[in-house]
This record gives sequence, C-alpha cells and structure tokens, in this order.
Amino acid sequence: MGSIRPIFAGMKWNRILGHNRVKRLLSTALRTGRLPQALLLTGPEGVGKNGLALALASAVFCESPSDDDTLVDSCGTCRSCMQMAHLAHPNLRIIHALPAGKGDTDDEMKAELIDDIRSMLEATSENPYSPLRPDGATQIRIGQIREIKRSLSMSAMQAGRRLVLLSEAHEMTIEASNAFLKTLEEPHPDTILVLTSSKPERLLQTIVSRCQELQVAPLDDADIHHYLISELACTSEDAALVAPFAQGSISKAQAFLAEDMRGYRQDIVDLLRTTAKPRDFRADLVARIHDIADGRNKTRMEYMLSLLLLWLRDAHALALVGPEAHIVNSDQREALSRFAAAFADADFGGMYRAIERASNALSRNVTPVLVLLPLLLGIRRALFASRSKAAA
Ligand SMILES: [Zn+2]
Repeated sequence: MGSIRPIFAGMKWNRILGHNRVKRLLSTALRTGRLPQALLLTGPEGVGKNGLALALASAVFCESPSDDDTLVDSCGTCRSCMQMAHLAHPNLRIIHALPAGKGDTDDEMKAELIDDIRSMLEATSENPYSPLRPDGATQIRIGQIREIKRSLSMSAMQAGRRLVLLSEAHEMTIEASNAFLKTLEEPHPDTILVLTSSKPERLLQTIVSRCQELQVAPLDDADIHHYLISELACTSEDAALVAPFAQGSISKAQAFLAEDMRGYRQDIVDLLRTTAKPRDFRADLVARIHDIADGRNKTRMEYMLSLLLLWLRDAHALALVGPEAHIVNSDQREALSRFAAAFADADFGGMYRAIERASNALSRNVTPVLVLLPLLLGIRRALFASRSKAAA
C-alpha cells in the first residue's frame, strides 16, 4: 500500500484506530486473568474487529508484554511478536470463509487457493483492516471447524495459550455452526476463541449466548481522515473527500479511494450546471443523464448521490454562514461560493428530500436514468422555488 512500516512493530493495539473502551476492557481481562473463553466482536465491516483480535492475540502470546495500567500491550520485538507480525504464530489459528468448491479436490486449484490465502495474510499483516477472506469466498465449512477441533485436542503438542480467530463467523454453514457449538460447549483450557461478525443476527443464538459480546463501533470521520493520510498516503483533499462517505469503515474508505471520486464529482457539478440553466435545459439534461447513467452500476450511482448531497450541503453552508463555513469540498470553494451566491434562496431541504427519494428508488433497483431524471427535475424546482413564488 505504499506506506513503509517496520514489520517488527507487530500487532500492537495502536495499529487499530480508536476503540479505546474495547482495548481497555480486553487489557483488564488479560491483566486479571479473566479473559472469557469465547469472545464475540460485532460491528460493521472495516472498523478493525479482526485487527483487535490479532492485537489481543499478540498481547496474549508476547514474552514481555507492557502494562501501563490502561493497556496490556505486546512488546513488538520478542520472538512471539515477530511471529505475530507475519501472522505466523504457531498458537494462532485463523478461520475464514473459503470459495465454494475451491480447494476441495483438484490439486491445482488447491495450490492456487494456498497462494490466495498467503497473500491475504500478508495483506492483513501489513494492513490489519484488510479483509480476511480470499477472493470469491462464500462460507466457512464443517471441515475447517473439524480441523480446529483436531488441533485443539492435541494440546500437549504446543506450549502456552492459543487463540482461534473465527473471522466473520456468521459465514459458517449450518453444519459448521453445529460443530462449532460443540467446541464452545467443551472449553479447552488455555484456548481463547474470538469470533468476529458484521452480521451477528445470522449466527446461531446458541453460539451468541455462549460468547461474551463486545460491540466495535464505526470510527469517526477524523480517525478515517487521519488513517487515509498516514497509512494510505492520501492527500488531505482526497482524505476530506472520502472520509465522509466511509461511514466509519476503513474498508469502505478504501473502496471509495479505488473509485474515480473526482470524476464522479465533476459529473455531478456538470449535471447541476445543466439543471440550473435558466432555459432550454431539457435536451441537454437528458443527454447528460444518459451519458452519466451509461455503465454506472448501482453502487457507483449511490456514490454519485452521496457526492451530490455533500456538494449541496457545502453550498448550503456557504449560503447560510458565508465564506467562513466549514466545507468538505474545500478544493471547490470558488465554484461552490458562486453556486451559493446564485441560489442562496433555494429550497435546500427540497433538494435533500429529492436525493433521498432517488436513493430509495435506487435501492428498489430502479434504472439509473429513471432515478436521475426525476431527481434533477426536483432539484430544479427547488433551485428556483423562491423565484417562482416571487413571480406568482
Ligand atoms: Zn513481544
């Protein structure tokens, strides 16, 4: 990902942003020897649940952990920490979904899958927010749970405590879930089971009730902003553009970064310009909408609606507060100020409602053209609301 990070830093708590309450709770449990046998970390994707589990594992395995009365943290330099830095500690087991049918019989496929998993683990050791799932993974199967049970029963083979991370545990098949339930019912001493899940409602209730659940909340925009700049080498402008869309999730922020956000925003500005033309706008608008809707899938259309909302909010803020207003699209201040000055009396609330209706239509799979046309006509009405009132 471009950023140079000394790999020997390992998986200390500070690799994961925020979540101080969860870190403190786990540290206290570790210090007092009261770490539950089974933990369930729930929260949206990309907020650092697996990273927290790995930092906990590092602290559990570390040969000389530090304790500042707040956090019990791994040292980052001992042999265990070096192994954790590569997610290669012998007492760490990571279970994650696998692609259906892949790696079952065909040896060649198996080799390919092993490569996929190796690069997935490398990516996670470099960036703990990287998803623990190879491409095309769909489910955690019973064979994987049986394998864990076998290795846990060979406790004499490995000294020390062990930690099993079950990433996105709700991806277990029903057979796997039932097999795992038995593992939960027969605790292995010195083994900590950590389940993570972004959809805990899909887990068997009997599994949930045997785990201690800790909720991992979405990150705040400032944390995301900081991460984008410090870890992903974003410019401050790009980070400001992306952070509000990430909804507290690093993985969502990364997905946005991979998109041509500036290009989408330019499309939005062009659309607004056409919509706001005093007359003869219809033919232009229809042509532009067709251009924009062409080849844009639902997700990209959602990005565009979010960008439109953000742009209008900035214009609204400038119209209300003036040049001192805090805006997200700071590199567009000039264009936004002109827009705000021209439409200071516009019905911004009406525009927000039009975007909300468009967003609902998109989620009902209405085609992009039929989402954009009523949206922009609604925005036009709202832009000229005060003028038509004055004329009436
Ligand atoms: Zn250590």
